[in-house]
Order: sequence, then C-alpha cells, then structure tokens
Amino acid sequence: MTTSGIITNIQRCSTEDGPGIRTTVFFKGCPMSCSWCHNIETINPESTLVWYKVKCIGDQACVRICPEDALTLTPDGLKIDRERCVVCGTCEEACPTGAVKVMGKSWTSVDLVQELLKDKVFFETSNGGVTLSGGEATFQSKFALEVAKGLKDEGVHVALDTCGYCSEKVLWDLLPYVDLILYDLKIMDPQKHKEYTGVPLDTVLTNAHIVAESGKPTWIRTPIIPEHTDDEENIRAIARFVLQHLPNVERYDLLAFNRMCIDKYELFDLEYPLKDYDLVSVETMENLAQVAREEGLSNVVWSGMTKRSKKMNNMENQEIETCG
Ligand code: SF4
Ligand code: SF4
Repeated sequence: MTTSGIITNIQRCSTEDGPGIRTTVFFKGCPMSCSWCHNIETINPESTLVWYKVKCIGDQACVRICPEDALTLTPDGLKIDRERCVVCGTCEEACPTGAVKVMGKSWTSVDLVQELLKDKVFFETSNGGVTLSGGEATFQSKFALEVAKGLKDEGVHVALDTCGYCSEKVLWDLLPYVDLILYDLKIMDPQKHKEYTGVPLDTVLTNAHIVAESGKPTWIRTPIIPEHTDDEENIRAIARFVLQHLPNVERYDLLAFNRMCIDKYELFDLEYPLKDYDLVSVETMENLAQVAREEGLSNVVWSGMTKRSKKMNNMENQEIETCG
C-alpha cells in the first residue's frame, strides 16, 4: 500500500531551490513556528479551507451547497465556521471564481511521483530536479521517503529543503535517496533559537552533523530577518560552525526577508507579526555576505527582496529582486 500525504503546492520552473530548473513540492506541516514564517499555510499539517476576498463575486454558491452549513456571507466577508467545516471541498467545486480553496490536497506517493515526472524533460536539459520543501518534508517522513525513492528510481535529482528539526532516524532513512540538502541554520544563539523558532537548537546542530557524516552535497541557508537573524555575530557563528563541522557544504545562501506573505496571514485571520519591519537593505545583505566570506566561506550567495538605498538609486522603499 502506498502512503498518502498532504501537499499545499507544486511549484514548477523554480530556479531558487537548488541547481537547474526544479519543481518544488510544498509538504504541509512544520515542527517549527518561526515568528517570520513566509509560508504560514504550510504549518498546520491538516487541510484547511481558505477564502480569497479579491476573487469573490458574492453569489453565495458556496453557502448554498455546503452540507455542513459552515459558511455565511457577511458584509465583512465569508465566514468559515471551522468547527463545522469538514474540508470536503464541495464549496471549492461549486465556486465559479476559485475564491474558496482547500489548502492542502491529499496525494498518494505514486500519484505525486507521476505528476512530478511530467517535468522530467526540464530536469534533464537543465541539470535540475525536484526539491522537497514545505512546511517541512520530514514532518511527513514516510510519505517524503516514498516520494524520494520513487523519484530516484526514475533517475531524478532530489533535493531536500529542511529546517533540520526531525528525528535522527528519519534523516538517516531519507538521506540515501537525496542528492542535495538545503539545510537551514537560522540562529546560533540557543535561547534566541528557541524563542524565535519554538524548538531547541541542539537537535538542528546534531542533525547537521549527521548530514555532514553522510557526505551529501549541502547548501546552508539563513533567512535574514531584521532584528532576529541579521546581526553580524549570528552570521559569523554560522560560518564558523560550517567551517569547523560541515566539510560537505558547497554553498552558503543568505535569503533576504520579504513581506509578501501578509496576504496569506489574512487568509487565516492573522496579522503578520513582522508587517511593520522594513526590507533589508542591499548594503546589509552585502555586508553579511562579506562577513561570512571573511570567516572563510568561499561560495556565499544572497538573494531575495531588498530595499535599495538612497545612495544606490535615490528610490527608498522600492522593492526589487536581486541575486548576488
Ligand atoms: S469544505 Fe465542505 S464543509 Fe467546509 S465549508 Fe466547504 S462545503 Fe462546507
Ligand atoms: S461561491 Fe465563490 S464567489 Fe460565490 S460567494 Fe462563495 S466564495 Fe464567493
């Protein structure tokens, strides 16, 4: 019997989650609760119904068809009674505009692998592949293992994008079927790590040693979040740990904070905790990359949304995408 799992999104033609052209699979469920999370829809492991205000034409087809009487259209928008909603998806089928959507669809590992193989020609021509991301792929460990095995059987390059918080056994089981590990080291101060991510640092470091022992090519990633991870000492500590303990690391990625997730938080009636934080400046990203290089890392790359400085183009607050 094949295992089923819950996926929130399959993103094709990604160029930021490993080498070549990739298809990134977002697994639902994550053991961390980072205060800056950009993928809030993936934290809860269960499927959830969401409503997109901008798509709604107010015809109430969803309200009429719901067998659980879980929906009410009010002047403030569609109210979902989550106690009643059984996430059956009937309203999604009835909605003419795609304004209601079940976030998180169930797939068998066999069906998911078949779906991913549709992009095989792109992987072959670009040295790309599939990246298992999330949420946290290891959170659905059996499902992730079957998907990784299925892809390897078809000769597809598999990358695992992980926060590093899972059991040692889960990691050891998965590593033989993974070609590249994208490993997050976010904060090296244990207290801050617990405060900002909700989980202890020591598991993440222990698992980083396991990844090193496996010898698998690894890219370390740090999200650069204002007042959380963006201090020089944090980047120095990460760089030193990598140099001292992780000889298999090929690249260090610094990923600049963005606020594009604000709309996603609104879907869940939540306010993005970092909504008032400014984007990180180009100078800060370049400086932090330089700090990592000074410590001895050779392949340091930064990317993401940044704020141009006045000095650079006199256009403060313009959001641009840059890859260093
Ligand atoms: S998913 Fe099913 S139960 Fe939930 S609101 Fe839609 S129709 Fe009703
Ligand atoms: S069916 Fe779709 S468009 Fe119509 S009220 Fe419901 S969510 Fe809005």
